[in-house]
Amino acid sequence: MGITPLHKWIPNLKKPLVIAGPCSAETREQMLQTAKELVQIEDVRIFRAGIWKPRTRPNSFEGVGEEGLKWLKEVKEQTGLLTSTEVANAGHVELALKHDVDILWIGARTSVNPFSVQEIADVLKGTDIPVMVKNPINADLALWQGAIERMMGAGITKLAAIHRGFSTFEKSKYRNNPIWRIPMELKLLMPDLPIICDPSHITGDRSLVQYVCQKAMDIDMDGVMIETHPTPDQAWSDAAQQVTPKSLAEIIQNLNVRTEFTTDRNFSAELEDLRKNIDRIDNEILEALSMRTNIVERIAEAKHKNNITALQVHRMDQLMNNRISSGVKIGLREKFIKEIYNVIHEDSVKTQNEIMNAKENE
Ligand code: PEP
Ligand code: MN
Repeated sequence: MGITPLHKWIPNLKKPLVIAGPCSAETREQMLQTAKELVQIEDVRIFRAGIWKPRTRPNSFEGVGEEGLKWLKEVKEQTGLLTSTEVANAGHVELALKHDVDILWIGARTSVNPFSVQEIADVLKGTDIPVMVKNPINADLALWQGAIERMMGAGITKLAAIHRGFSTFEKSKYRNNPIWRIPMELKLLMPDLPIICDPSHITGDRSLVQYVCQKAMDIDMDGVMIETHPTPDQAWSDAAQQVTPKSLAEIIQNLNVRTEFTTDRNFSAELEDLRKNIDRIDNEILEALSMRTNIVERIAEAKHKNNITALQVHRMDQLMNNRISSGVKIGLREKFIKEIYNVIHEDSVKTQNEIMNAKENE
């Protein structure tokens, strides 16, 4: 069984699909007020709200529980929006099904655990409910793919992946590092799987949500999930990243969305599309090279401190063999890898020498 395309389970779908609603269901009034404002925004098709909140540390708000499912149902009845919530175990799934939630999602702290994912898959067998699988908190593509495969194994075909970034120990401007390469690779492995970006949990900061949404559109993701609250600063969870319905409308309006992929495109349109892809990938390569150069500079400083020369032949041999074997495994020609790494390595030695010489003359 394959994957059912998004437009078959979301009527009159337009790109991007927008999923919006609070991080957590707090009160009936908060839910209904949010939903009534959201339904005015054309692209918003799915209402989200966490009923059971997986918290990293105890003693924070852990969700309103079953009562919130009744509010979710009222949202559906009063606005016609599809509803969705997070499930983390079999009991949650049973209650969500009982209260007619339209779409379930598996959170990042659950998709990380194959036992929990399998437990959810087992209880979903025989249902036809759509499931969205968030990436696991750690940057492990196979684990994410595995969780999706477990859903497919249970006969779920209405599937989507949600990219919410990956937890890293090092500080960065993001709450969760997007590592865009990972969802892009998932798309290559599962081309029919819709991917939705969750800029709220990636950024942890409402001022960056627009920027990350645009990045998601630039790599042709299918939609966005954005946490929305009538008074974000008063939210009981994830206050800093939630936006008001009004800001959400602006964010969506400002998005520059790539044109639809149609079957009757002529040659030049197709070429243009492919070239845009090449441009995007080249930018990724340049960003990666710039990150590599930053590390080379740090190595130069460490070598200088320890009186070691910039060029170490042994390391170069090791690096080259290693890169050739990795590159060949993913279909690159050996000669091509050799040429690229000769140039990269040459530049790296040059950079190191320049830094070390400058330090000598300090
Ligand atoms: C959420 O969507 O509110 C949530 C808890 O997200 P995640 O599982 O991505 O941390
Ligand atoms: Mn949240």
